[in-house]
Amino acid sequence: MAYDSNNIFARILKGEIPCKKVYEDNDILSFHDINPKAPVHVLVIPKGAYINYSEFAIQAPSDVQQRFHQMVSQIAQDLGLSETGYRLIMNCGTNGGQEVPHFHVHILGGKRLGAMIGSEDI
Ligand code: AMP
Repeated sequence: MAYDSNNIFARILKGEIPCKKVYEDNDILSFHDINPKAPVHVLVIPKGAYINYSEFAIQAPSDVQQRFHQMVSQIAQDLGLSETGYRLIMNCGTNGGQEVPHFHVHILGGKRLGAMIGSEDI
């Protein structure tokens, strides 16, 4: 599957759609989720064109990946989540429930979160 350069996050990166920015540098953008599922719900995306977690993990240079993970941790800390804890979600592909085909990490926190996944039958 080819990267869709018109996906919503690509358009945010191009400045075509606004976002509520949390952090930005040359490689990373972080912004509030438009439909928050917790008191704090922030997304972190690499600026590179990676469709999903697998692409990022396999294709992104090691230093880019390391810095990305460091910044996810730093952003969680800056949001005040480190002491009380938080959850990271990386939905990948159809069964993972990924809606936007640009790799992203969800940071969720601000309350004690519920079950890890929905309660539908296995
Ligand atoms: P996923 O299901 O993992 O692909 O998650 C995509 C997330 O992007 C969802 O939680 C959406 O609420 C969020 N989202 C979609 N459009 C926007 C937008 N324009 N700004 C911020 N978050 C968005």
